[in-house]
Amino acid sequence: MTENEFKELADLLYPNVRDIDYYVNKYPPRQAIGEVTRLGPSPTGFLHIGQLYQSLAHRLLANRTNGIFYLRLEDTDSKREIDEAGAIAYEMLNYYGLTPDEGYRGKEQEIGDYGPYEQSKRLEIYHAFAHYLIKRGRAFPCFCKPKKDKEEIQKSRNEELEQSDELTLHDPCRNLTLEEIKTKIKANNPFALRLLSVGNSEHTHKFRDAIKGEKDLRENAKDDVLIKSNGVPVYSFAHIVDDTLMRSSIIVRGQEWYQSLPVHIELAMAFGFKPFKYAHTPNICILDENGNKRKISKRKDAFADVRFFIKKGYPVEAILEYLLTLLNSDFEIWRKNNPNKSIEEFPFEIKKIGVTNPLFDFLKLNDISKTIISKFSAEEVYKNLYTWSKIWNKENSKTIKENKQNLIDILSINRGGERPRKDIAYYSEILDLYKYVLPNFKPNYQFELGQVDKSKLIEFLVDYSDHLTQEKDNQTWFENLKNIACKYNFVDNKTYKQNPSIYSGNIADASKFVRIAITDRSDSPELYSIMKILGIIECKNRLNALISTLKNK
Ligand code: GLU
Repeated sequence: MTENEFKELADLLYPNVRDIDYYVNKYPPRQAIGEVTRLGPSPTGFLHIGQLYQSLAHRLLANRTNGIFYLRLEDTDSKREIDEAGAIAYEMLNYYGLTPDEGYRGKEQEIGDYGPYEQSKRLEIYHAFAHYLIKRGRAFPCFCKPKKDKEEIQKSRNEELEQSDELTLHDPCRNLTLEEIKTKIKANNPFALRLLSVGNSEHTHKFRDAIKGEKDLRENAKDDVLIKSNGVPVYSFAHIVDDTLMRSSIIVRGQEWYQSLPVHIELAMAFGFKPFKYAHTPNICILDENGNKRKISKRKDAFADVRFFIKKGYPVEAILEYLLTLLNSDFEIWRKNNPNKSIEEFPFEIKKIGVTNPLFDFLKLNDISKTIISKFSAEEVYKNLYTWSKIWNKENSKTIKENKQNLIDILSINRGGERPRKDIAYYSEILDLYKYVLPNFKPNYQFELGQVDKSKLIEFLVDYSDHLTQEKDNQTWFENLKNIACKYNFVDNKTYKQNPSIYSGNIADASKFVRIAITDRSDSPELYSIMKILGIIECKNRLNALISTLKNK
């Protein structure tokens, strides 16, 4: 086709559009001195833990370079769209303190001069850019019937590969004449717009990804679809147009996009733009039942949806801190050397993101979370628990409110100091952990006696209960317990070795059974303090309840 014919074709397919210069001038280069980075969630599901992980990278990158982090809603797939998913994505970023500086903020709301930030509102812009490509002879209409589903696409792909093992996939419609196209358009045949590729898949060039480093990249040689027959662009087209006009300076995105990079580069060049800087982040994985790494899946893993962690009651700081250990491997050493600094101060860098897919490890997350919660004051933990419960555990919120003092008292045990108690990983476990300080506590008393002599144990507990007084400190409390236990031949190992025949159980067994009586658990914070919170009468009741259980055992 001649230049004039290309122009005629562009006007025929996308009439009445503006010149792209209009948009290029409307969205001038930014004044930001640092990196301009963005998250582009598709509202086909809720914010994924992987997107939160990326957003942390976006936020830190923008903060550290005096740049901008913005949010763009990539809502071009209306069939798979979930109502509210976009608004929830924004809310989640906000909740985690990763609020974007600019962009989409929920239905019909956005801030910034580079919008609209919802792709569904940008069709006029895409069509102007489509017109421009056709005019330059770099895109053509394709009238082939679209493949119905994945299976059909796979079948035709296999057929193509059988015919040739090259990755050059020139579409037959690229050879249609203007007259042929006109006839089809007149007959109202729907068309998709395809890139007219000029690449050669046997050619490679060096390309530097900010995470993967320099690698050989083959050229694209496929006439990929750019705009579907409903006028809506596919990802590659929208990516190039939007990131150009919104003036992104680096594309930080999931590594699943790395394989389409050649198309994105060819497309940018077809427009006459310089290709972007890219950073393809690894995927967070878990080990499946066979010990193989697999990507976290929205379908199989409840925690893929970041709301899982909020419902469970993990503090924001714990999630961010954990995600940072996955993002930059030197973070943990930094944290060791700077235990009290905010993560904002960590010298985060995109190039320090590893190339291997990190494994999501709940044990590690819980450890981090326990350490973080151990640094809060008892009042803070209580306040966070109550605030959390008002949204996520309404049925227990009243109990939490009414038992404020008991909860603060138990949360105060071993808090602060050099080696604080680290037993809480998330707020939803607190009531269960400490249910013995709440009213209507009903113990189950499941335990093994082991080597302990049952009748001696009963005698000890009766005596202990009868003489229970409020001791003045932990040491006196333990001395008293020990003295009574010794009367019933609960002895230490040394005495046991000297005289095994008198043995009713170890001295530790005696305190273990007092703990079981009081808390129905084998581990708890300092028992002396718990008994002080509960008071003598309640403790006697519980000791007696265990004595009855033992008698019936
Ligand atoms: N909508 C794309 C996704 O959800 C965005 C990818 C990108 O960041 O460019 O994967």
